[in-house]
Amino acid sequence: MIVGVLALQGDFREHANVLRTLGVDVSLIRRPEELTVVDGLVIPGGESSVMDKLARAFGLAEPLRLAIREGLPVYGTCAGLIMLADTVLDAIEGQQSLGGLDVSVRRNAFGSQNQSFETDLDVPAIGDTPVHAVFIRGPVVESIGPAATTLAVLQDGRVVAVEQGNLLGTSFHPEITGDYRFHEYFLSKVGARGRTPDVRGSKVG
Ligand code: GLN
Repeated sequence: MIVGVLALQGDFREHANVLRTLGVDVSLIRRPEELTVVDGLVIPGGESSVMDKLARAFGLAEPLRLAIREGLPVYGTCAGLIMLADTVLDAIEGQQSLGGLDVSVRRNAFGSQNQSFETDLDVPAIGDTPVHAVFIRGPVVESIGPAATTLAVLQDGRVVAVEQGNLLGTSFHPEITGDYRFHEYFLSKVGARGRTPDVRGSKVG
């Protein structure tokens, strides 16, 4: 199993370290041709508007959209969740996402850097004990369409983790807390897809 980490910008090194700790071969992705060898992809936290610009400049945006449509498992944290959202609110002018998740997310929904916070979340899909979640200028999922599923909400009910088929997104940063259950959950999607050769080889959509 080879998992790519989009390495244009942001905290891709932290994700790569987590994946290596979990025994996975990691490939840092900066060019379209590097995408062809991966069984899954992580899009890190960072700054989504910059990531978007670089993805387009490096010719990666369209190949990524195609790979997502064809079912590549992708996990986006924070800016990565913004990249996966079909609709981005408070985007900077001209900012595009890759899409795939049937959600609207609002950038910087919790305010500026110094309003970053940490909290414990119940996430029944990944385990019985709470997940310690670190929010750093994170987005919130403001609306969620019928194709996507909520995985975690804050105490006030705001949605901060979602999934849809092979796609997974969190407003927060499991890559920096030492609790790797979200990455393991993602890897189970990667593994499940890898065991289904007829799906991997087929053209969908
Ligand atoms: N505010 C950033 C953005 O809009 C996301 C912050 C993060 O990834 N920690 O992309």
